Amino acid sequence: MGEQRPDHFRIAVIGAGFGGIGAAIKLKQSGIDDFVVIERESGIGGTWWANTYPGCQCDIPSHLYSFSFAPNPNWTRTYAPQAEIQRYLADVAAREGILPHVRFGCELYSADWDDSAGLWRLETSGGEVTAERVIAAPGPLAEAQVPAVTGLDSFRGEVFHTARWNHDRDLAGRRVAVIGTGASAIQAVPRIQPEVERLTLFQRTPPWVLPHGERPITAVERFAYRRLPALQRIVRAGIYWSREALVPALVHRPALTKVIERIARRHIASQVADPALRERLTPDYTIGCKRILPSNDWYPAITQPNVDIVFGGLTEVRPEGVVGPDGELHEVDTIIFATGFHVTDMPLAKLVRGREGRTLAELWQGSPQAYRGVTMAGFPNMFWLVGPNTGLGHNSIVFMIEAQLAYVMDALRTAEAVGATRIEVRPEAQSAYNERLQARMPGTVWNSGGCASWYIDENGRNSTIWPDFTWRFWTENRRFDPANYTLLSHI
Ligand code: NAP
Repeated sequence: MGEQRPDHFRIAVIGAGFGGIGAAIKLKQSGIDDFVVIERESGIGGTWWANTYPGCQCDIPSHLYSFSFAPNPNWTRTYAPQAEIQRYLADVAAREGILPHVRFGCELYSADWDDSAGLWRLETSGGEVTAERVIAAPGPLAEAQVPAVTGLDSFRGEVFHTARWNHDRDLAGRRVAVIGTGASAIQAVPRIQPEVERLTLFQRTPPWVLPHGERPITAVERFAYRRLPALQRIVRAGIYWSREALVPALVHRPALTKVIERIARRHIASQVADPALRERLTPDYTIGCKRILPSNDWYPAITQPNVDIVFGGLTEVRPEGVVGPDGELHEVDTIIFATGFHVTDMPLAKLVRGREGRTLAELWQGSPQAYRGVTMAGFPNMFWLVGPNTGLGHNSIVFMIEAQLAYVMDALRTAEAVGATRIEVRPEAQSAYNERLQARMPGTVWNSGGCASWYIDENGRNSTIWPDFTWRFWTENRRFDPANYTLLSHI
């Protein structure tokens, strides 16, 4: 029997979250139909498919956390719950005819650039796929991170991560440990606290918490948005600019964040009566250094009599429970890790091998970098969405995705127009871009705010955040810039 030929596509898109679905829609709109979307999960949504923990909700307002080209007048809340966002994305994908292109349950094992053939070879759980170009949209929040804690394997109870919530585990009447106090914990804990018998919460670093302006969107408002789409665009623009207004403080003058800090201090003062406890729940770093979290029910939940707060990291797990820095054993039957994701050490970087036979992870050495967050020298015909330094703390990532898509689509058009079979960013352009970018970092709240966050990589470099206005990212990336690329029209 002869060897089976791999399926060949003009373009392979990795991931069916906001990035991958956005890319697929743009490809289709530009007349490209010869593409596949590889998705390891069994549904559309990426992080919004995987994260189903109780209370999961976007902390960016719904009108802004959606594609500009696919407004949704039917959002039921000003901050949409996970299920509604997942449904929105699935509906948009169906409406735009994307579903037939998606291979669900198809996990990427490796992606290798074949220099002699001039194409990417993708090994997947569904067989080999080759493609002339790859758009990688793996998402920065795709791989759950569970700390390597001594004794975890010996635990007799149930263990799971918020991003892989075990809905079969009924938490009613159980003794539960939650590890972490980040964006996921702050949403899940208030939902599970009333039903569990005891909740042991590990707080290593307290978050800054602001009052949440969340509310239902009334039927009248929804009717108005359906009838007057311009109205929703105006509301969206208002939300966008109010969030951009934070940039001068976050990027240039972290001292200006004192105004926001005062609001957070008033919030905790109004909800936590005990001054000693309040002190321990109040951060000592500049607000904005870690993600600012909105919640009205976090402090009321964690100050209930059935909650014990352990101040410090999880140091050990024993068969019967969890141990903090003071060595005390807390007997629990369930451990929930709300400990975030592999961001700067994203696993996909280990699977992608470029022109010189090295993986992205080997090249990056712990510090991801790209040109415009999209292209990487040595990795021809590959485009990333939400790549290095395109993350945000203050605004909608969907806006950044759309800006990157404009750049990628213009790159594809340009290559087509000049008959280029290979597009590869020049290494010197990539270096100069990153030098300029990193030069802006030292004074920002993320680098100087006095906290440890997942924005900073293992070498102490901020390789996650875009340190400027998002409109500037958009204006800079509207057009592809061929002068910074090598465009070849032969193999
Ligand atoms: P995260 O922000 O990285 O928080 C992880 C938490 O786990 C932190 O409190 C961390 O403490 C703690 N932790 C890690 N290892 C620990 C250990 N050994 N012992 C005790 N505590 C430990 O993760 P996340 O909450 O999943 O959020 C990640 C990102 O996802 C967010 O920043 C946001 O961008 C996104 N997200 C968004 C939403 C939303 O839109 N509503 C919701 C969820 C997540 P330290 O602070 O000391 O490191």
